[in-house]
Amino acid sequence: MYIALEVESNCMKRTPYLPDTLKFSCEFCGEENIIEFDPTAGKHQTFTEDCSVCCRPNRLRVTVNEVTAELEIEAEYEG
Ligand SMILES: [Zn+2]
Repeated sequence: MYIALEVESNCMKRTPYLPDTLKFSCEFCGEENIIEFDPTAGKHQTFTEDCSVCCRPNRLRVTVNEVTAELEIEAEYEG
């Protein structure tokens, strides 16, 4: 599963606003989850988040693109 969140940026010369939440689709049940995210904690972050619907763990790999202010999110079921 691959999701890119797009955030509008009016001026590319400014430091773009980095989203502090992210959205992923559960790899087990397909439901959408929105969780808090700290973009200042690193450009590449890997963590496990339990789906709020089915409680299955999803391993998320998040890459912060500071130029486009997009989050690149890969989710895989951690079974
Ligand atoms: Zn789920």
